[in-house]
Amino acid sequence: MKPLIGIPTRTIKDLDAFPSYGIRATFTRALELAGGAPVLIPLQLSEESLRAIFARVDGLFLAGGIDVHPREFGENVEPFCGEIDTDRDAAEMNLTRWALDQDTPVFGICRGIQSLNIAAGGSLYQDIAAQVPAALPHPHRKGNPYNLRAHAIEIARDSRLARALGATRLEVNSLHHQALKQIAPGFRVSARAPDGIVEGIEAAQKKFAVGVQFHPEWMLDDDARMLKLFQEFVAACDRGSAP
Ligand code: MN
Repeated sequence: MKPLIGIPTRTIKDLDAFPSYGIRATFTRALELAGGAPVLIPLQLSEESLRAIFARVDGLFLAGGIDVHPREFGENVEPFCGEIDTDRDAAEMNLTRWALDQDTPVFGICRGIQSLNIAAGGSLYQDIAAQVPAALPHPHRKGNPYNLRAHAIEIARDSRLARALGATRLEVNSLHHQALKQIAPGFRVSARAPDGIVEGIEAAQKKFAVGVQFHPEWMLDDDARMLKLFQEFVAACDRGSAP
């Protein structure tokens, strides 16, 4: 049986009081290509329902998206913070904390590395340009393809990320305006951009708790190493395999 990979969705505002929930298909495609069976998790569920879903999935995937409310890391909303989806925040914070508590594999991309870090007790820069003025440009520029290599990353040689990718230096895309500030207890930095911005974290004591700030799902078709990262995650979710 393929491992079930739960993915908290995002709010898509409709014209009436009831929104839709979805997630970009690049993520479900990557997870399925890697051998997983992705399952979308709606928002605004009761804790009982969310726990029932969590108990049945083999791994948790945290996708890209808009900003997490800064109250989740004890800060006020600064003027340079972006759009917020508090229903998504609530589901992701609960699910990620349960995953870390029970050592359910968790993999986060972009907003996902940020949610993972916050749920584990870390914090963010609410805007790189405003708060780290010496940083390279990290946000997406309108018109650029999403697989455009924007900057290099240096990957720690002894990290899970380096083993999965088979590389310690990579050119990656960059589609984010926020970045990790305080790294959560139990996590280490696995990759940085040349300006010091954190591009990867992982928890050494967990079966698989990994986040990346770049978007491997947009580079699958031009760099075979990117799929390996998803395959490592899905393999860790396979309860039938040896640890
Ligand atoms: Mn970047």
